[in-house]
Amino acid sequence: MIIVIFILGAVLGSYSACTVIRYSQKLPVITARSQCLFCGNMLKWWHLIPLVSFFLLKGKCWYCEKKLLLAYPIIEFLNSILLLLLYNHYGFSSNFFYYLVIYQFLFISVIIDYYTYTLLDRITFFLILYSLILGGILGEISFISLVGSLITGGLGLALFVYFLYVRKKYALGLGDVKLLFLLGLLIHVSEIPYLFLYSSLAGIFYYIIMYKNKKFLEEDYAIPFGPFLFLGLVLVNLL
Ligand SMILES: [Zn+2]
Repeated sequence: MIIVIFILGAVLGSYSACTVIRYSQKLPVITARSQCLFCGNMLKWWHLIPLVSFFLLKGKCWYCEKKLLLAYPIIEFLNSILLLLLYNHYGFSSNFFYYLVIYQFLFISVIIDYYTYTLLDRITFFLILYSLILGGILGEISFISLVGSLITGGLGLALFVYFLYVRKKYALGLGDVKLLFLLGLLIHVSEIPYLFLYSSLAGIFYYIIMYKNKKFLEEDYAIPFGPFLFLGLVLVNLL
Protein backbone atom coordinates (compact mmCIF):
# COMPACT_ATOMS: atom_id res chain seq x y z
CA MET A 1 0.00 0.00 0.00
CA ILE A 2 2.84 2.36 0.85
CA ILE A 3 4.30 1.81 -2.62
CA VAL A 4 0.92 2.53 -4.24
CA ILE A 5 0.63 5.76 -2.24
CA PHE A 6 4.21 6.72 -3.15
CA ILE A 7 3.53 6.17 -6.87
CA LEU A 8 0.21 8.01 -6.69
CA GLY A 9 2.06 10.89 -5.02
CA ALA A 10 4.69 10.98 -7.75
CA VAL A 11 2.05 10.86 -10.53
CA LEU A 12 0.00 13.67 -8.96
CA GLY A 13 3.26 15.51 -8.30
CA SER A 14 4.29 15.15 -11.91
CA TYR A 15 0.98 16.61 -13.05
CA SER A 16 1.31 19.40 -10.46
CA ALA A 17 4.86 20.20 -11.55
CA CYS A 18 3.80 20.48 -15.21
CA THR A 19 0.86 22.70 -14.33
CA VAL A 20 2.91 24.94 -12.06
CA ILE A 21 5.88 25.34 -14.38
CA ARG A 22 3.69 25.99 -17.39
CA TYR A 23 1.64 28.47 -15.40
CA SER A 24 4.76 30.23 -14.06
CA GLN A 25 6.20 30.54 -17.57
CA LYS A 26 2.87 31.77 -18.91
CA LEU A 27 2.42 28.79 -21.23
CA PRO A 28 -0.98 27.24 -21.92
CA VAL A 29 -1.60 24.89 -18.98
CA ILE A 30 -3.63 22.37 -20.93
CA THR A 31 -2.14 20.97 -24.11
CA ALA A 32 -2.95 17.81 -26.00
CA ARG A 33 0.31 16.13 -25.07
CA SER A 34 3.44 17.01 -23.14
CA GLN A 35 6.23 18.63 -25.09
CA CYS A 36 9.76 19.71 -24.26
CA LEU A 37 9.68 23.30 -22.99
CA PHE A 38 12.74 24.15 -25.07
CA CYS A 39 12.49 22.39 -28.44
CA GLY A 40 8.75 21.66 -28.48
CA ASN A 41 9.21 18.00 -29.46
CA MET A 42 6.48 15.64 -28.28
CA LEU A 43 7.62 13.50 -25.39
CA LYS A 44 7.44 9.71 -25.58
CA TRP A 45 5.50 7.75 -22.97
CA TRP A 46 8.62 6.68 -21.13
CA HIS A 47 9.75 10.31 -20.85
CA LEU A 48 6.72 10.94 -18.70
CA ILE A 49 7.24 8.43 -15.90
CA PRO A 50 7.54 10.48 -12.73
CA LEU A 51 10.95 10.38 -11.02
CA VAL A 52 12.15 7.43 -13.15
CA SER A 53 12.27 9.24 -16.49
CA PHE A 54 14.44 12.02 -15.12
CA PHE A 55 17.13 9.44 -14.33
CA LEU A 56 16.58 7.45 -17.55
CA LEU A 57 17.10 10.67 -19.50
CA LYS A 58 20.05 11.64 -17.26
CA GLY A 59 18.33 14.98 -16.68
CA LYS A 60 18.46 15.99 -20.35
CA CYS A 61 15.87 16.31 -23.13
CA TRP A 62 15.90 13.22 -25.42
CA TYR A 63 15.84 15.47 -28.48
CA CYS A 64 17.64 18.74 -27.82
CA GLU A 65 19.72 17.64 -24.81
CA LYS A 66 18.82 20.82 -22.92
CA LYS A 67 18.95 20.25 -19.18
CA LEU A 68 15.56 19.35 -17.71
CA LEU A 69 14.39 21.41 -14.78
CA LEU A 70 15.47 19.80 -11.52
CA ALA A 71 12.21 21.15 -10.13
CA TYR A 72 10.29 18.23 -11.75
CA PRO A 73 11.81 15.33 -9.78
CA ILE A 74 11.99 17.46 -6.61
CA ILE A 75 8.29 18.35 -6.77
CA GLU A 76 7.39 14.73 -7.63
CA PHE A 77 9.40 13.41 -4.70
CA LEU A 78 8.05 15.97 -2.22
CA ASN A 79 4.52 15.17 -3.38
CA SER A 80 5.10 11.47 -2.70
CA ILE A 81 6.33 12.32 0.80
CA LEU A 82 3.26 14.53 1.29
CA LEU A 83 0.90 11.69 0.36
CA LEU A 84 2.76 9.23 2.59
CA LEU A 85 2.38 11.64 5.51
CA LEU A 86 -1.34 11.96 4.76
CA TYR A 87 -1.69 8.20 4.56
CA ASN A 88 0.28 7.75 7.77
CA HIS A 89 -2.00 10.20 9.54
CA TYR A 90 -5.44 9.36 8.17
CA GLY A 91 -5.05 5.81 6.90
CA PHE A 92 -7.07 4.77 3.87
CA SER A 93 -10.25 6.60 4.83
CA SER A 94 -12.67 9.21 3.55
CA ASN A 95 -10.61 11.74 5.52
CA PHE A 96 -7.55 10.76 3.50
CA PHE A 97 -9.27 11.78 0.26
CA TYR A 98 -10.81 14.87 1.83
CA TYR A 99 -7.40 16.11 2.98
CA LEU A 100 -5.66 14.90 -0.19
CA VAL A 101 -7.63 17.49 -2.19
CA ILE A 102 -6.73 20.25 0.28
CA TYR A 103 -3.03 19.45 0.56
CA GLN A 104 -2.58 18.79 -3.16
CA PHE A 105 -4.13 22.10 -4.19
CA LEU A 106 -2.27 23.93 -1.43
CA PHE A 107 1.00 22.39 -2.57
CA ILE A 108 0.34 23.56 -6.14
CA SER A 109 -0.61 27.00 -4.86
CA VAL A 110 2.55 27.47 -2.78
CA ILE A 111 4.87 26.29 -5.58
CA ILE A 112 3.25 28.89 -7.83
CA ASP A 113 3.85 31.36 -4.99
CA TYR A 114 7.50 30.28 -4.87
CA TYR A 115 7.94 31.06 -8.58
CA THR A 116 5.65 34.05 -9.03
CA TYR A 117 5.16 35.56 -5.54
CA THR A 118 1.43 35.13 -5.98
CA LEU A 119 -1.00 32.95 -4.12
CA LEU A 120 -3.93 32.42 -6.45
CA ASP A 121 -7.21 33.59 -4.90
CA ARG A 122 -9.18 31.02 -6.84
CA ILE A 123 -7.32 28.16 -5.14
CA THR A 124 -7.52 29.69 -1.64
CA PHE A 125 -11.21 30.57 -1.97
CA PHE A 126 -12.05 27.20 -3.49
CA LEU A 127 -10.35 25.44 -0.57
CA ILE A 128 -12.07 27.63 2.03
CA LEU A 129 -15.45 26.78 0.50
CA TYR A 130 -14.51 23.14 0.06
CA SER A 131 -13.38 22.68 3.67
CA LEU A 132 -16.38 24.60 5.04
CA ILE A 133 -18.86 22.44 3.11
CA LEU A 134 -17.25 19.01 2.93
CA GLY A 135 -15.33 19.43 6.19
CA GLY A 136 -18.58 20.42 7.85
CA ILE A 137 -20.31 17.31 6.53
CA LEU A 138 -17.41 15.06 7.58
CA GLY A 139 -17.28 16.71 11.01
CA GLU A 140 -13.75 18.00 10.45
CA ILE A 141 -14.84 21.64 10.75
CA SER A 142 -16.59 22.89 13.86
CA PHE A 143 -17.48 26.23 15.44
CA ILE A 144 -14.05 26.33 17.08
CA SER A 145 -12.42 25.98 13.62
CA LEU A 146 -14.19 29.17 12.56
CA VAL A 147 -12.84 30.94 15.65
CA GLY A 148 -9.35 29.65 14.81
CA SER A 149 -9.72 30.90 11.25
CA LEU A 150 -10.64 34.38 12.48
CA ILE A 151 -7.64 34.36 14.83
CA THR A 152 -5.03 33.29 12.23
CA GLY A 153 -6.56 35.50 9.54
CA GLY A 154 -6.88 38.39 11.96
CA LEU A 155 -3.26 38.04 13.08
CA GLY A 156 -2.17 37.89 9.45
CA LEU A 157 -4.15 41.02 8.65
CA ALA A 158 -2.69 42.82 11.69
CA LEU A 159 0.86 41.92 10.59
CA PHE A 160 0.06 43.04 7.04
CA VAL A 161 -1.23 46.41 8.23
CA TYR A 162 1.63 46.84 10.71
CA PHE A 163 4.32 46.24 8.12
CA LEU A 164 2.62 48.28 5.44
CA TYR A 165 1.82 51.39 7.48
CA VAL A 166 4.36 51.35 10.28
CA ARG A 167 7.41 49.76 8.69
CA LYS A 168 6.37 50.86 5.18
CA LYS A 169 7.12 47.58 3.48
CA TYR A 170 5.38 44.49 2.22
CA ALA A 171 6.50 41.76 4.58
CA LEU A 172 3.33 39.76 4.13
CA GLY A 173 1.09 39.76 1.08
CA LEU A 174 -2.70 39.83 1.13
CA GLY A 175 -2.51 36.35 -0.44
CA ASP A 176 -0.78 35.17 2.73
CA VAL A 177 -3.52 36.74 4.84
CA LYS A 178 -6.23 34.89 2.88
CA LEU A 179 -4.19 31.70 3.16
CA LEU A 180 -4.03 32.20 6.94
CA PHE A 181 -7.84 32.33 7.12
CA LEU A 182 -7.85 28.92 5.40
CA LEU A 183 -5.08 27.44 7.57
CA GLY A 184 -6.96 28.48 10.70
CA LEU A 185 -9.83 26.27 9.56
CA LEU A 186 -7.50 23.31 9.16
CA ILE A 187 -5.66 23.34 12.48
CA HIS A 188 -6.80 23.28 16.08
CA VAL A 189 -6.92 26.63 17.90
CA SER A 190 -4.30 25.42 20.39
CA GLU A 191 -1.87 24.81 17.49
CA ILE A 192 -1.99 28.36 16.14
CA PRO A 193 1.20 29.50 17.96
CA TYR A 194 3.06 26.50 16.52
CA LEU A 195 1.89 27.30 12.99
CA PHE A 196 3.35 30.80 13.27
CA LEU A 197 6.48 29.57 15.05
CA TYR A 198 7.33 26.83 12.54
CA SER A 199 6.53 28.97 9.49
CA SER A 200 8.59 31.92 10.73
CA LEU A 201 11.56 29.75 11.75
CA ALA A 202 11.53 27.97 8.38
CA GLY A 203 11.26 31.31 6.58
CA ILE A 204 14.12 32.85 8.57
CA PHE A 205 16.26 29.74 8.08
CA TYR A 206 15.66 29.91 4.30
CA TYR A 207 16.44 33.63 4.27
CA ILE A 208 19.75 33.05 6.05
CA ILE A 209 20.74 30.26 3.64
CA MET A 210 19.87 32.43 0.64
CA TYR A 211 21.78 35.32 2.18
CA LYS A 212 24.87 33.20 2.85
CA ASN A 213 24.74 31.91 -0.72
CA LYS A 214 24.60 35.49 -1.95
CA LYS A 215 21.72 34.55 -4.23
CA PHE A 216 20.51 38.08 -3.75
CA LEU A 217 22.20 41.29 -2.84
CA GLU A 218 19.35 43.76 -3.10
CA GLU A 219 18.13 45.33 0.09
CA ASP A 220 14.48 44.77 -0.60
CA TYR A 221 14.71 41.09 -1.41
CA ALA A 222 11.53 39.32 -0.37
CA ILE A 223 10.83 35.65 0.11
CA PRO A 224 7.47 34.14 -0.78
CA PHE A 225 5.89 33.19 2.52
CA GLY A 226 3.25 30.74 1.23
CA PRO A 227 5.58 27.72 1.08
CA PHE A 228 6.62 28.27 4.70
CA LEU A 229 3.04 28.59 5.91
CA PHE A 230 2.31 25.33 4.09
CA LEU A 231 5.35 23.71 5.72
CA GLY A 232 4.09 24.95 9.09
CA LEU A 233 0.69 23.36 8.38
CA VAL A 234 2.30 20.04 7.47
CA LEU A 235 4.48 20.08 10.60
CA VAL A 236 1.52 20.92 12.84
CA ASN A 237 -1.02 18.56 11.30
CA LEU A 238 0.84 15.64 9.82
CA LEU A 239 3.89 15.10 12.02
ZN1 LIG B 1 13.97 19.41 -25.99
